[in-house]
Amino acid sequence: MALRHVRQYPDPVLRAKTTEVTAFDTELGELVDRMSSIMGDAHGIGLAAPQLGLRLRLFVYQPEEGAAEAVINPTVTWASAETDIDEEGCLSLGDTVRVPVSRPVHVKVEGQDIDGNAKTWDLDDYYARVFQHEIDHLDGVLMIDRTDDVEARREAMQRLRPRP
Ligand code: ZN
Repeated sequence: MALRHVRQYPDPVLRAKTTEVTAFDTELGELVDRMSSIMGDAHGIGLAAPQLGLRLRLFVYQPEEGAAEAVINPTVTWASAETDIDEEGCLSLGDTVRVPVSRPVHVKVEGQDIDGNAKTWDLDDYYARVFQHEIDHLDGVLMIDRTDDVEARREAMQRLRPRP
């Protein structure tokens, strides 16, 4: 049911450009709380602002332990040459669509925390993948654009086709 709050493909906002967050105020705090709660209800690990119809450069993710965390104005500043392939899902692509995506195994991401302080994330494996998936959302890119697996992509597109 929580998915009803999440914009679904092919909603054009999922392809829209986002703008940097400049106000680190109460409103931002409330937005992050709302995003975290929707992500939790939907059993997601990450949720980006465009998935709620907002053209803002931020996402929330669920760390292994503790509360959900906001990542504001993130950029991947380094990515390893080493890549691996794993299946991804997306709260905007329904709960049955999964596609294999090749991504760098290690990345460094620079951005800001919810108070506007500069922050660097050094990420490996699973969370490196989560961050890259969410940052893609901020650039209007979806996992179905990233997959090299033609068959998996075709099947995903069939599942995503609107029913008459
Ligand atoms: Zn997604």
